[in-house]
Amino acid sequence: MKNDIILNLKEVHERIENACRISGRKSAEVQLLLATKTVPAENIKIAIEAGEMLMGENKMQELRDKNHILGQLPVERHFIGHLQTNKVKDVLKYANCIQSLDRLSLADELHKQLQAQNRKLDVFVQVNTSYEESKFGLAPEDVLTFIKKIKNYDTLNIKGLMTIGLLDVEKEKMRPSLRLLKTIRDEIYEAKIEGLNNLKLSMGMSQDLEIAIEEGSNMVRVGTSIFGNRFLGKEIWNENIAE
Ligand SMILES: *Cc1c(COP(=O)(O)O)cnc(C)c1O
Repeated sequence: MKNDIILNLKEVHERIENACRISGRKSAEVQLLLATKTVPAENIKIAIEAGEMLMGENKMQELRDKNHILGQLPVERHFIGHLQTNKVKDVLKYANCIQSLDRLSLADELHKQLQAQNRKLDVFVQVNTSYEESKFGLAPEDVLTFIKKIKNYDTLNIKGLMTIGLLDVEKEKMRPSLRLLKTIRDEIYEAKIEGLNNLKLSMGMSQDLEIAIEEGSNMVRVGTSIFGNRFLGKEIWNENIAE
């Protein structure tokens, strides 16, 4: 297992570097975030010990259950799944960044909890650039107004925009929903909102990381290509992982 993970990581870094070269970008512009849903903490630890510094979980329960191992390690833990308002307090115990900020009620709750703890938090605004009902995220046309509102929450550091994008077996079908995230960022830049002139784009996964990098991604979130296939939903066989 250990060797697999290390080899896979090497391969993913090569894919990132190749994509950067092809699009004339520096590989330092693109960070790798380990997408670790359903991955046991021991396996995540292998990747961290190999030098990875960013990971993302989708569920509060997994953040909590893996904390006894990951809480000791030099890794930034992001939350990348849909976040229910009633889970905010718990997620804040473990997460350094929320990438799935997608509604005002969630921003309100985060602000309230963070104020009480006298701390700030990095956030990405999630956008549903593929307009699919199965995905969370703000509609692209609502992002600018939303950003202008949450700009007033001094507990939230707006780091960038996140999207999952359209996943398709045909690579070129994925491109428009990734390109759109950059277009939205341009729109925000044109609005010249104070302090918002360096927004990162979090996009690209195992299937589409090359296209995402060509379209300007600054952070790819990769799970399957590093840790192998997942068992999802009711097929989860490990009760320690299932909710
Ligand atoms: C699972 C997940 C990823 C990684 O997907 P892979 O196809 O396994 O690389 C990225 N982003 C989010 C939000 C995810 O839930």
